[in-house]
Amino acid sequence: MKFPRLEIDLNKIQHNTEIITRECHKRGISVAGVTKLFSGDKRIAKALVDGGVDWIADSRVENLKRFKDFDLPKMLLRQPMLSQSSMVVKYADVSLVSEQVVVKKLDKVAQKQGKLLNVILMIESGDLREGIFFKDEIDEAVKDILSMDNVRLLGIGTNFNCFGGVKPTREKLMNLIEIRNEIQTEFGVSIEIISGGNSGTLGLFKYDAIPLGINQLRLGASLSLGIGLDDIGIEDLHNDAFILATEIVERRNKPSVPIGDIGANSSGKQVNFVDKGIRARVNCAIGRQDIQPEEMEPIDPDIEILGASSDHLILDVTDSPIYYKVGDKIRFRISYRGCLSCMTSSYVGKKFF
Ligand SMILES: *Cc1c(COP(=O)(O)O)cnc(C)c1O
Repeated sequence: MKFPRLEIDLNKIQHNTEIITRECHKRGISVAGVTKLFSGDKRIAKALVDGGVDWIADSRVENLKRFKDFDLPKMLLRQPMLSQSSMVVKYADVSLVSEQVVVKKLDKVAQKQGKLLNVILMIESGDLREGIFFKDEIDEAVKDILSMDNVRLLGIGTNFNCFGGVKPTREKLMNLIEIRNEIQTEFGVSIEIISGGNSGTLGLFKYDAIPLGINQLRLGASLSLGIGLDDIGIEDLHNDAFILATEIVERRNKPSVPIGDIGANSSGKQVNFVDKGIRARVNCAIGRQDIQPEEMEPIDPDIEILGASSDHLILDVTDSPIYYKVGDKIRFRISYRGCLSCMTSSYVGKKFF
């Protein structure tokens, strides 16, 4: 078996998905299951589908293409590149949009392909990634989209906690509903969906703070890693569906402070060392090319991560009751960012349970 490897527990992912979709459905909220963490892997996507999500959502249209045989509507999360419009129309049923020039192109392509593409217009709520901020520009975009024949304005949406780290609040969501109401009155249309954010918005469930009218959430981290706002674990969910297993290639006793003139290390930084005397150190065959050490946490609480270079992870195992030797495996819980980079690294194997 190949190491390092991600050990992925599909049952845990499906379990998380079942619990969350049930909670959302109870509140009249449909779930777009976000698969962008999976690098297009169908086995993991299937766990979301089996867990009951209503949509499959990904930021990359290449991944939606891989999921084309799943019998669920597909949503493209990232605003489409003009250069990918024909793929978007072909593989997405709904696309989150914020630029009329793109929607115009999608409309043209949809006509050529004989399709109707749904779009959700993104509204800027202050996190400052995607979406339209000014009301008159929202109106302009709505007017333009309504004038197109092969694109349908399915809804409006917003995003939180991505660039600015801005948290969702009842107030911000009420504002979104207000915008929906104004559009409906001004243009005499019905706006079916209000997409109220990502896993961070689940935190509002506890306070019953999601206003009636928000009827879709786009959920990734909560389903796969059991985490919500600020990466904090959500009650009753598994947060260990992804475990990283690495193999030891060296175990040696060494001083804890480097010997010689100290300059920058391979990360370009000069590090200060604490002298703890001679310590048992282990090197594992994984490095910054695959994952940043800050994104890993040893399952054995008595192991300390000392650092990493591109291809080596360096650990202090002196305090562990387990005697680790060359060839043994050391396992880690990993963060969302760590999971993303390991899923993307072709050097990290994937083993499913
Ligand atoms: C990634 C993403 C999501 C999912 O975010 P999670 O925090 O993983 O739930 C939702 N919406 C958009 C637009 C995204 O890019």
